[in-house]
Amino acid sequence: MSTWSYTLLRAGRFRLDGGSMFGVVPRAIWSRLVAPDDDNCIPLQTNCLLLELGGSRVLVETGNGNKWSAKERAIYGIEDRTVETALGEVGVSPAQIDLVIVTHLHFDHAGGLTRLGPNGELDLTFPNAEIIVQQQEWDDALARRSTMNGTYLASHLDPIADRVRPVNGEAMITDGLRVMPTPGHTWGHQAVLFEDADGTICFPGDLMPTRNHVGRSWSMGYDMLPYDTLLTKETVLARAADERWRLILDHEPGEPVVVVDRDESKAWFRLDPTRVPLH
Ligand SMILES: [Zn+2]
Repeated sequence: MSTWSYTLLRAGRFRLDGGSMFGVVPRAIWSRLVAPDDDNCIPLQTNCLLLELGGSRVLVETGNGNKWSAKERAIYGIEDRTVETALGEVGVSPAQIDLVIVTHLHFDHAGGLTRLGPNGELDLTFPNAEIIVQQQEWDDALARRSTMNGTYLASHLDPIADRVRPVNGEAMITDGLRVMPTPGHTWGHQAVLFEDADGTICFPGDLMPTRNHVGRSWSMGYDMLPYDTLLTKETVLARAADERWRLILDHEPGEPVVVVDRDESKAWFRLDPTRVPLH
């Protein structure tokens, strides 16, 4: 079995409306877990992973990127920091990334695939990398199939077109690193799985963006298929509990690495960030 090492990269904080982030859950309930700011927004992070095995380097997710106006930065609270900043802090340059896997192509996941250069030109952030995404997600992104305006952006998608390697369904990408369809947030959303020295890790993307999203009904108003999110989440949480996976949550602003336990009293699951092996 191929054993990867992973480094958690915090690619920058941002914020989104708390009501949108918790869908059908009333503010009176969710605001007990996370305090909204004066604009009713909650703090989020863009967690990405650097995976290394032998000489190969894979990046999972890319965050918001740097192509934002001052007004957009203010609205979304986008920190002046990108995945490039985080890679630089661990001594890796964007040119050293061989492969990028994104769970889906909304702006806070695909934004970092391209960058604004010093003279305002639009460049590929990772000049030597192929980009892995589900064929369904790529097709939906190009057709702008979303209830949200402005989440599949041409400036994020057009420059990467000839770098995208679309996959269909469950797929082995390289050396035990694999993707698995996790529909709900979008039709073509995928999770990323791999083994490190301590077992299996699953990056479920926007299936469960923060620890507060573990509950059965705690899914986002942004989901295309909310009931599918519930079913997919139950399947992933059950496997994670039974097979002792660790999950790494993409927008968790606190500790994003968790293990999953069955909670018999609620016939559901709970997350524990404290029993994760240190590495
Ligand atoms: Zn997201």
